[in-house]
Amino acid sequence: MSIQHHPDDALLSAFAGGTLDSGQHVAIATHLLACARCRNFVRTMERVGGSLLTDVPPAPMSSNAFAAVEARLGEAPPSRPVTPSLPEGETEIPGLPKFVRRYRFGRWNWVAPSVHVRPIELPEPGQTRVFLLRSGPGTRLLQHSHTGVEMTCVLAGGFSQEQGHYGPGDFDLGDESIDHHPVVDADGDCICLVAMQGELRLAGLLGRLMQPFVRL
Ligand SMILES: [Zn+2]
Repeated sequence: MSIQHHPDDALLSAFAGGTLDSGQHVAIATHLLACARCRNFVRTMERVGGSLLTDVPPAPMSSNAFAAVEARLGEAPPSRPVTPSLPEGETEIPGLPKFVRRYRFGRWNWVAPSVHVRPIELPEPGQTRVFLLRSGPGTRLLQHSHTGVEMTCVLAGGFSQEQGHYGPGDFDLGDESIDHHPVVDADGDCICLVAMQGELRLAGLLGRLMQPFVRL
């Protein structure tokens, strides 16, 4: 797996400092599980943070943000047994971390031709919604922007957009200033974990016509 697109240092620092909301935390943790480079960065940040903060009580999540991810690398069993909520046959979505599989999943919902989303219910809901996005081969997603921040982790397949090609493990950050126009690879479905704040804004006439029908 060759990962080309990573969260920036500010996001990784925020993860290490425990200042992300729960949905964004899940998105960054999903990338960290696939990316040794970013894991090393977060580990270093936590060491530096620990030495700077010796006289200051740590923020509630700061001291264990990465430890929690690291524990999941070994996929240590949870303290109490949890039944995976993904139905039989769907537990093997490639690249979906085991810790995410323990959350409760909604149904796959149609949002556009060849595009389905499946909500993931977090134990501590926040401002960020988390869902799986599955797009069929060759799907040209409508050009869109956001009213908030959108984090995307590719789990399987791939897509291309203005910033290059994205494959398994790659991470993308979108905000109000970025217009996305992704095109899914022709050779298979693309499945992503998405953590999205705010609302999606579709561009162009077709987008404006479809906006009332797209429920994201
Ligand atoms: Zn990375």
